[in-house]
Amino acid sequence: MSIIQQIIKLQNIDSQLQDIAELLGDLPIKVESLKEEESSLITSLESGRLRLQELELGLNKFDGQLKDLNIKIEKHKDQLFLVTNNKQYDALQLEIDHLKSELDGIEIKSLEYTEEKEKLEKQIKSESENLGALSSDLKERRKKLENLMNQSSDQKTKLESDRKTHIDDIDESILNQYTRVQKARGGLSVVSITGSACGGCGAFIPPQIVAEVKSNSLARTCDSCSRFLYWDSE
Ligand SMILES: [Zn+2]
Repeated sequence: MSIIQQIIKLQNIDSQLQDIAELLGDLPIKVESLKEEESSLITSLESGRLRLQELELGLNKFDGQLKDLNIKIEKHKDQLFLVTNNKQYDALQLEIDHLKSELDGIEIKSLEYTEEKEKLEKQIKSESENLGALSSDLKERRKKLENLMNQSSDQKTKLESDRKTHIDDIDESILNQYTRVQKARGGLSVVSITGSACGGCGAFIPPQIVAEVKSNSLARTCDSCSRFLYWDSE
């Protein structure tokens, strides 16, 4: 096998591998990012639900405290009618004021909890909806990805092993050159000459080079894009 034939064969393998990679497209990345989004939604929902429980327990406790305080205040108010001197009256009044300010404090807290609870319930509702939609989207994409991967995995394994065997036969400096051009030129390292133009970039190829390429003796490259050139006799 001539050098150029070796390179053509390598290009053929690489193009097929590239096709397989393109077939999967950005699906693997998309699936990965959906998975991350899903797990962060799940975490947020879990902590939201825990907080909601805390708030509900707190609100129940406040209700009980408010009831007790109201009863106490009413009792103290009743006692006001029974006192016999000013000193007792002032002491009772002071106690009532104290209980009232305690009651105000709890009412404020209860209001804060209620507001947070309402906000949280809305958030949980929308996150649950998002999670539902996201999970079904993820399921669908995962299935598609698995199908595509199953379809192509045997072919990919075979191509990769062919490539490994094949590159052992190729001169190292030629292989390095091939790899450099491949990276720089979107995966296409070898092109045919069309008329007297490079099939990759369209640059003019001098007749002498064309003749050399036709004779298949030397590996020649395009001066403009550095791709290896071959003559397609068909
Ligand atoms: Zn070129």
